[in-house]
Amino acid sequence: MIRTFDDLPGNTSLVIHSLAGCNLHCFGCHNYDELVTSNHEHYLLAGDILQQIKMNGYLFDALIFSGGEFLMGNLTEITLFLADLKKGFPGKIIINTNGTFPEKIRHLLERELADGIHIDMKLPYHAFDKNVDMAAYQAVLGVVPTPALVQNMMSAIQLVIRHNSPFSQVRTVKYPVLSEEYFEQIRSYIDELKERYNSEVTYKLNEFYFSA
Ligand code: SF4
Repeated sequence: MIRTFDDLPGNTSLVIHSLAGCNLHCFGCHNYDELVTSNHEHYLLAGDILQQIKMNGYLFDALIFSGGEFLMGNLTEITLFLADLKKGFPGKIIINTNGTFPEKIRHLLERELADGIHIDMKLPYHAFDKNVDMAAYQAVLGVVPTPALVQNMMSAIQLVIRHNSPFSQVRTVKYPVLSEEYFEQIRSYIDELKERYNSEVTYKLNEFYFSA
């Protein structure tokens, strides 16, 4: 758990990292070794987190669930957990995701179990075709990108922009292995989607930091 003021400006947020694993292995991921592949002896179960939030949740006005990839978890368990959380926590609930589970995002937004989604757009997925630079995709995502995977991430980004929550964000990390042209393509695609859906969702291009 980490307290943060930056992820959701204007709010004091608690970031809760899940140990659900991750289906990507992104370039320079700060969480991978610590959260995705390590064995943990000390962690909280869902019931422990609900209890902690019940006692100390007043210190925060937002909770951000991160990973690994939080949505790797079982959807029924996530749904029950967030529904219980909502009963006792009046602040905002945000889910961080790499976008590979659009149907889970849709499910949570339709039931108002998440107030916002912070979703990655790591590459210009909309320009993914037979001529794509696979080396760049693999360098960034750490996996071989299938058309289905890329389509899922595109669908999820469209869903989040269309939903138009003031608490959602689309985010890109300025990976040093990509040229400026990639970031220009991503930004112009996000601008196009926002215009198409009359959406105000925030877009952030974040600097890449090497982990120590
Ligand atoms: S999706 Fe996130 S947690 Fe997973 S490898 Fe990429 S940066 Fe790390």
